[in-house]
Amino acid sequence: MSTTSPYFTAGGPAGMLTRSGRSVWAVSAPARGGGGGGGGGGGGGRERCGRPRRCPPVKVEYESAHGDVDENRRRAAASKARAGETLVGATARKEELKQEEEEEQEKKNVKEEGKEASGEEEREEEGKRRKRAGGRWEPPHWRAQLDNVRRMRQHRDAPVDHMGAEACQDDDAAPAVRRYQVLVSLMLSSQTKDQVTSAAMSKLRSHGLTPRNIVGTDDATLGRLIYPVGFWKTKVGFIRRTTELLLAQFGGDIPRSVPELVKLPGVGPKMAHLVMNIAWDEVSGIGVDTHVHRISNRLGWVRKATRAPEQTRVALEDWLPRELWSEVNWLMVGFGQQTCRPVAPHCAECLNRAVCPSARALVTKKKAAAAAAKTRDRHTKR
Ligand code: SF4
Repeated sequence: MSTTSPYFTAGGPAGMLTRSGRSVWAVSAPARGGGGGGGGGGGGGRERCGRPRRCPPVKVEYESAHGDVDENRRRAAASKARAGETLVGATARKEELKQEEEEEQEKKNVKEEGKEASGEEEREEEGKRRKRAGGRWEPPHWRAQLDNVRRMRQHRDAPVDHMGAEACQDDDAAPAVRRYQVLVSLMLSSQTKDQVTSAAMSKLRSHGLTPRNIVGTDDATLGRLIYPVGFWKTKVGFIRRTTELLLAQFGGDIPRSVPELVKLPGVGPKMAHLVMNIAWDEVSGIGVDTHVHRISNRLGWVRKATRAPEQTRVALEDWLPRELWSEVNWLMVGFGQQTCRPVAPHCAECLNRAVCPSARALVTKKKAAAAAAKTRDRHTKR
């Protein structure tokens, strides 16, 4: 029996099934070749050799299916690219904004520098200041700077406030003995931290800090009492010789003038002015120690940079109103202990930051704003 029926002859009617039942054939054939059976064209049927034709429609469908996949992939890729572009765009915009901000800041800085550099305003301002100060030179922002230091020192919580020379005397002692104790505490405080001076003074007071008692004490005991103040061995000699002089020439009291005070062993001008101020309650000059010297130079309170405290004293006394002389020492010493420290001053939290020529440029704006707010809070809450 023939394996083919008349329905399977070449060019037979489309849509017929093969014996193998390939439905693809039957379904796809009419869609391709422009019509049903008939020889030639893309219709179904068999090749002349009798084999069923390959099925082009199946191929078409296959291509079409792959075409969809490709299309999807293409769309996905396009969408991804768009997302990527958006991200890149946003980053670029951010960069642009940042650059604009930086340029803006740069312009401001240049403008401010220009102002400062122009000198014209500066000269005008200096002229006004001189007029106010009766023709004398005075620093540009000293009043604002001083007010700021007063605000930062309003709580009097620096070491100097409770351990300095003013806080080391025996309040119950006779006035002459109290003055002697002021002199001794100032002699000990040179090159020494307030805490160490205070501890030594406490031991001396327990021992009996009067001129008579000290001349009767041997050097070894005196050394043990004042150790570990800076240069304690030298200071033992200074205290002994000074005490002997006081007993011999001033009846056990201390002299009441700077020239006489500076003749005592171990007493310099700074100490003499402080003794006059603290012991005699008289203002003879500004007591300039390393803190006052350093801060005066940082704030621009000296016309030209000074090298030694004594130079600074002369420069300050030239313009600073006399009624402020006694205040300046304790203000600046505490300020130097807490904020304007010798190494790494705390410029970020200093109220003088905006008016101080030495304010550290390293302080970032954000840090500075946070620190200033913290300082303001600290000084307003208490
Ligand atoms: S800004 Fe800095 S250098 Fe100037 S006074 Fe304050 S702590 Fe001192």
